[in-house]
Amino acid sequence: MDIKEAQQRVDLWIKQYGVKYFSELTNTVILTEEVGEFAKIIARKYGEQSFKTKEKEASATQDLEEEMADIFFVLICLANQMNIDLNTAFLKTIEKKTIRDKDRHIMNKKLL
Ligand SMILES: [Mg+2]
Repeated sequence: MDIKEAQQRVDLWIKQYGVKYFSELTNTVILTEEVGEFAKIIARKYGEQSFKTKEKEASATQDLEEEMADIFFVLICLANQMNIDLNTAFLKTIEKKTIRDKDRHIMNKKLL
């Protein structure tokens, strides 16, 4: 599935099951919530925070996948309701980063 198809699938899902898009404000809050859920797992898996149970630790990788997909879903909702073509926007970002940072990271001794 490419990004355009993902945007179409989300739009279809919203029309079929979601009734309508939440407002941009509500979806931005939900996006922040989902990023927080992702960050909570990262703090436990890669940071100093510990998991509350062994089961939670065992399912961390699967939970990270789920949270990334949740983030992507809400981001797509926002793009759809703002008429943003994420494929085009993403290609522009890659181009921008390439022009701006093509030597920056290669020259960064901290990355060696
Ligand atoms: Mg979530």
